[in-house]
Amino acid sequence: MKPLRVQVAEAARRLHASGWVANHDGNVTARDGARFLATPTATSKRLVGERDLIEVDAKGVVQGHGKVFGEIGLHLVVYERRPDVGCVVHAHPPHATGISASRGNPIERPFIAEALVSLGPRIPKLPYAQPGDAARAALAPWCELVDAVLLGNHGVIAWGADPEQAMLRLELVEHLARIAIAALPLGGVDPLPEAAIAPLLAARAKANIGRAADRAVATAAQLLGEAPGAVVACAPAPHSPVPTIPPGGRPAELATIVREEIVRALRQT
Ligand SMILES: [Zn+2]
Repeated sequence: MKPLRVQVAEAARRLHASGWVANHDGNVTARDGARFLATPTATSKRLVGERDLIEVDAKGVVQGHGKVFGEIGLHLVVYERRPDVGCVVHAHPPHATGISASRGNPIERPFIAEALVSLGPRIPKLPYAQPGDAARAALAPWCELVDAVLLGNHGVIAWGADPEQAMLRLELVEHLARIAIAALPLGGVDPLPEAAIAPLLAARAKANIGRAADRAVATAAQLLGEAPGAVVACAPAPHSPVPTIPPGGRPAELATIVREEIVRALRQT
């Protein structure tokens, strides 16, 4: 296994080599104990070497020398909410960014099985938000549900256990965007049939990917588009550390939705 610094620098250069960034766009971070390695600001990803990486703490304060990029808060909110995540990547891949900057989102619902297992039940497109608190607040509810998000009029952010997995997910989002755009003259992509969704979500949970299906307790409200304050409980996967909210605990607030019902609701929203 290569040192983490080398993996991060290689991922940064891969963003540029893949054509997913221009100018100084894009950034990569990785969890390194209690600190985070980050690509430097105002630098082409083509030029990032392992010695150029910046170290920051959990609040984004630079430890040592250098200047971190302005979007570090987006990365930190993912790490805060996903202890299993070791790397976050952000870029502006042309096809996925084209979708992020246009009306509609043809990749929102899974239309091939691998996408659902690797990225979660949905690839949400967040509305445009100013960098900073607004952007972090928009991203936060999705961190535990999915592994990649389209940032409205901006680009893509994806995460994974390590740089390789995070980059594969970013690559998959861009690939799905290309497929969806290729399908437009044919009438557009057709999402997977409803009956296929539940087994694939179960496969995702069984593979312990993303923790999304396991951890869809309170935050499932956002996924389902329900009113704020609703509490949703579902049965976690057998290995999940998440406790199930006991039915009847707070009957006025509590709606118990089994996984199949979540899937049905997803298809209807
Ligand atoms: Zn950006």
